[in-house]
Amino acid sequence: MTDRTRRYHPWTPLLGLALAFAFARPAPAQDPPLKIFISVDMEGIGGIGTGAMTSGSGKDYATGRRLMTDEVNAVVAAVFAREPDAEVLVNDSHGDHQNLLHTELDPRVVYIQGSIKPLGMVQGLDASFDGAIFVGYHAKAGDPDGFIAHTGTGSVKGLWLNDVEVGEGGMNAAFAGSLGVPVILASGDSAAAAELSGLLGTETVATKTAETPASARLIHPSRVHALLTDAVGRALTRLGDGGYAPWEIGEPVRIRMRFSSTTHVDILQSIPGMTKVDGFTVAYTARNADEAYRLIRLMYRFVRQ
Ligand SMILES: [Zn+2]
Repeated sequence: MTDRTRRYHPWTPLLGLALAFAFARPAPAQDPPLKIFISVDMEGIGGIGTGAMTSGSGKDYATGRRLMTDEVNAVVAAVFAREPDAEVLVNDSHGDHQNLLHTELDPRVVYIQGSIKPLGMVQGLDASFDGAIFVGYHAKAGDPDGFIAHTGTGSVKGLWLNDVEVGEGGMNAAFAGSLGVPVILASGDSAAAAELSGLLGTETVATKTAETPASARLIHPSRVHALLTDAVGRALTRLGDGGYAPWEIGEPVRIRMRFSSTTHVDILQSIPGMTKVDGFTVAYTARNADEAYRLIRLMYRFVRQ
């Protein structure tokens, strides 16, 4: 190498800069990271075949928590395999909302624990999310093919939003839809999967089949995880192709709710605007899905009889 090639010319950096400006294309805009909200219930988790496994005081609850945690991790791993920069928020949505073994969750997720939250199963969901995934869901109250089918609590016999009967999955999907967020995947027992496929047209995974309302025909959790991994892949492809629409029920939201107890209905009359349809049924017109969701949660969870 000669001295000449090393010689520094004072104009060289400016020339380089000018050429860079002349020929550079504008840098492609960085896509914001994919944001996925995951709500996790317990009855529909693969490998859970009795109600005892979903109850804090029940036999094999510890195994239930393990199964729930592993199933969420399987879903999350599939999301990150496709979108390494994704942001994932996991909301524990069963019982006291303190079920997942959070120290064993994939460290890339953020986790909401605890049930004293006005938006319950959809707490933390906002319009910034690209999609919602419901894991471990069950069918709505009264579904004869469902495993531990219920809506909110055992005291609710039916819930209708703008005259469409929904369970927890539909109620949560309506809230998500009001924010413009589609449910891209739902998993649970075969009745829950059929319910949410029919209602939302979303991807579903059946994790088990009810043998009776209180017993289930199970497949091994490893097979459930494989099904979920495939389904997440399908869902993210479909999301990328614009293949989802939020489930929108419009405004206002007319709530009709049927309870097992006439006393429950009588107590709810203390809420201004609440009307009694019949001895077991109340109705209320909420301005929007947010107001409806908060009120419904109050009605079944915090007003008890
Ligand atoms: Zn539950």
